[in-house]
Amino acid sequence: MSQDQGYPLSCQCGHISFKTPPRSLSRGMAHCHCTLCQKQSASAFGTSLYFPSSSVFPLSPELESKLSLYKHNDSESGNTMYCYFCPKCGVRIMHSGVKPDGEMREVMSFKTGLIDGKELDWPGMKAKHIWVRSAVMPLAEGWECYEKYPDGGMEKKEEEERKGKE
Ligand SMILES: [Zn+2]
Ligand SMILES: [Zn+2]
Repeated sequence: MSQDQGYPLSCQCGHISFKTPPRSLSRGMAHCHCTLCQKQSASAFGTSLYFPSSSVFPLSPELESKLSLYKHNDSESGNTMYCYFCPKCGVRIMHSGVKPDGEMREVMSFKTGLIDGKELDWPGMKAKHIWVRSAVMPLAEGWECYEKYPDGGMEKKEEEERKGKE
């Protein structure tokens, strides 16, 4: 599959269907064990595929008109999470974050399970496990795990910002 093509993504009912930005722009994938992802996914963890926010926003008027938006205030970071979902089947589609000063976070994420399984190389993506300090399931030996975020990679900038605040 060409790196120029986006990943095709659709919700459970098919109302929402579009392509991500070109896969060459992806910042990788992570299984996130934070408590927000547990609540949001109603499961043990959430799997996200990251892209630069600037490659996704602003959304096309057509897509924006189909999506519903729930805004969640994250008391730990002070950011507001923009949680986009399908109004018909309720499936969460993607997340972006807005900092207290109104600036959008540098990376956003798509819910990876919405991508056609044949399009995504799950084993080859070598997903990290992040926020494992709140994991509710056993983590296997050999998995790439981080208490919070990795020092490098897709979330580097945000980790530095968190450290700066502490
Ligand atoms: Zn739907
Ligand atoms: Zn999370």
